[in-house]
Order: sequence, then C-alpha cells, then structure tokens
Amino acid sequence: MALLLKNAHVIDPQIGLNEVADIVIRDGKIVEVGQNLSIEKGIERDLREKIVVPGLVDMHVHLREPGFEQKEDIASGTRAAAKGGFTGVCAMPNTLPVIDNAVGVEYVKARAAQAGKARVYVSGACSQGLKGETLSEMGDMVAHGAVAFTDDGRGIQGAGMMRRVMDYASQFGKVVMVHCQDDDLVGEGQVNEGVVSTRLGMLGWPAEGEELEIARDIALCRLTGCPLHIQHITTARGLDMVREAKAEGLPVTCEVTPHHLFLSEDDITDEYNTCLKVNPPLRTQKDAEALIAGVIDGSVDAIVTDHAPHTDFEKDREFELAPFGMIGLETSLSLMITNLVAQGKITWEQLVELMSVNPRAILGVEKITLEPGSTADLTVIDPREVWTVTREGMVSKSGNSGFLGAELTGRATDVYVGGYATLEDGMIVE
Ligand SMILES: [Zn+2]
Repeated sequence: MALLLKNAHVIDPQIGLNEVADIVIRDGKIVEVGQNLSIEKGIERDLREKIVVPGLVDMHVHLREPGFEQKEDIASGTRAAAKGGFTGVCAMPNTLPVIDNAVGVEYVKARAAQAGKARVYVSGACSQGLKGETLSEMGDMVAHGAVAFTDDGRGIQGAGMMRRVMDYASQFGKVVMVHCQDDDLVGEGQVNEGVVSTRLGMLGWPAEGEELEIARDIALCRLTGCPLHIQHITTARGLDMVREAKAEGLPVTCEVTPHHLFLSEDDITDEYNTCLKVNPPLRTQKDAEALIAGVIDGSVDAIVTDHAPHTDFEKDREFELAPFGMIGLETSLSLMITNLVAQGKITWEQLVELMSVNPRAILGVEKITLEPGSTADLTVIDPREVWTVTREGMVSKSGNSGFLGAELTGRATDVYVGGYATLEDGMIVE
C-alpha cells in the first residue's frame, strides 16, 4: 500500500535535509522524497505546517512487563510511546522475572509483536537477577536479539564484576549502559544531599554517589575497550568526566532526562510531591543548567525519559515510602520543544540528533533516514500545538508525572512505524 505525505517540513541532519517536501512510502519503506509527488492510489495526507523527522527512539523505558503489569505493560507503555511521538523504545530488564536470559528476551519480543504500538528494543541484564554477582546469559541473549546490557535501577557495586561485564559485552560488540550508584554511599538517600535534604529532613543521596561510579566505569571503559553509556546523568561534574573521556577518544556516551533538565531539588517543597522522587534524584539548579549546557554543546548524546510508571496507591504514601520514578514518554518531546527548541537554545536538527539519530546509533539498531530505501519510521510534529499535561490525558496506566499542570508547546500528531500509522491526528490507531 502506498502512502503520500504532502507538504511536510522534513528535517534530517544526517543528510542535510531541511525543506518542505513530499514523501512517498510503499511497503514500509520510503521510496521518494521530493516536490510535487503523487501516487496513483493509496492514502494521501496533507502535513502542511507540520514537521517530519526520522522516528524518535527513547532508549531508557520501563515497560514493567512481565511482573508489574499493575503499573504498565507492553501494550500500554508502547501506546504511551506512540502518543509521545516515539517509533521505538528500549525496554529495561528490571522486571519480574528479570530479563537475564534468552527466554525473557523472547517473551518481551513476542509481547511487543503482539500488542506493541512501537518497536521494542530489548536490553538484557548484566548480572543474574540484577544482583551484581554472576554474569547473565549474555551471549544467549544477544543471539535472541538483545541490543544492549544494563542492570538499570542498580549500580554494579564491584569493580571486578563490572570489568567482567564489560569484557563480555565487548566480545559481542554491545554497549553496557550503567545506572551509576554507589550503594554504600547512597544508602537510603531519598533526595539530593544538600539544601533540600536538610530543609525537608530527609536522608541525602549525594552527587558523589553517582560521580564515583561514573569515574570508575570510565576507567573500566579504558581498560576493556567496551562501549560505555552513562544513564540519566545528573551532575555537572559527572558530565565533565564524560566530556574528558570523549576528548580522550574513549567510547563513552551519556543520556539526560527532561526531569533532570527542567526540574531541580528546589521543586520539592513541603507538599512532598512523590512524583518528584526519582533515582537519581533531582539535583541543584546549577546542575540542571550545566546539563542544559551539555545538551546545547553536544556533550549529552541522548534525551531519554527513564519512563518509570507506578500506581497511584504506591505514590500516595509518605515520601520515604513511595517508590522512585516518574513517567515521561508523553511529555518528553513537548518539554524539549517548549524549553529548548522554541527558546532558540537548540535547533530542530539537534533535537533529531538527541532523540532519534544518537539513540539508534548507541543501541546499534537500524538507522532511519528521510531518503529512499530507509524504513518508514517517522514522527510528525505540530510545533505550534499548545496543550496542558493532565492525568486524564495520559495513555500510560500510571500518572506519576512531575509535569502535571504544565502548559507545553509542540506535540507529535502522527507516528508511522514501518509505514503503518500508530498515531494519527493525535489519536492511537487501533
Ligand atoms: Zn536508572
């Protein structure tokens, strides 16, 4: 079947494309990009005033299935992804059971094929049961399609264990993605250690608890040569370490979440909003500014949500008892447009690099370009739509967003995965 997208503003920095053009899609592939195109039969859509980019990928998402389907499942999580403009997500392995063998990888792939509204790239655990003690069945998982390894949710405590993980992963050419957290130092920390922990009388999660593992893992990257990706980086010093590693030529990349860019510890008031309890915690305003500077200068490779759904009853508890995490799939793109693109701080091209090109490159999954021959994974954006974030508006099963009530500008209106619409005019295609 043919699909013709007319009059769209097409942007793809990989091929220097930034113009108004038509796109013809046939059998899931882009077959032509140019002016005044037509098709004999098929579907025609007028995308005047809209922007079309290579489909967005969120490389850090918790879909919660198997094991925690009360929070989210693969069907609802990928619907939230489509609603947010994503054509693909990388699922974290901290489910129940943990995805630490080929059977788990196959389960997630099968559920995604059956119920998914976005491509699901599966990451496998580094260690069995995320315990940080014994290597997972890495080779078997790679053979069954795992794209990367991570013990996300936990830091791997032993340097020797981390070295073995990286030695093994590098044999398969896979990236190791690290949640940097020194447990002995962080302990029961609830919020950033400093002003906010003092003001609220809660145990602190110091920046050093993250930075020590970043430093260690960069050293182990140097030792093993294994590609290293620092997950949800939150501190100015941590980012400087990544900059130095890159300058040295090490295969180190990093990601930042919108909540660490656009919120800070100052947002946690005596209302104790548990949606603002995240791991790693919201840091200082200075850190957030440093991270934004890193996004602008290219030191930050990818924007991810760390979409972490939790039920209302879990979050409706005392701050210390509530679980860490907030959802993000449905607000990420709009937050980036509102706070950075619309303010002239980054270009649309940079946004595409951060949310589409780089995540794919880091995961080593299929490259998508707006040219003939490419798979038609596309995101269509209305850069002017103004909307308000509400619980009722969420497609996710959970509503634990730190941005409820925010008025945002710009939103995905249509998403195509392999040429098929998963989102059309802002509605999920069933
Ligand atoms: Zn994490």
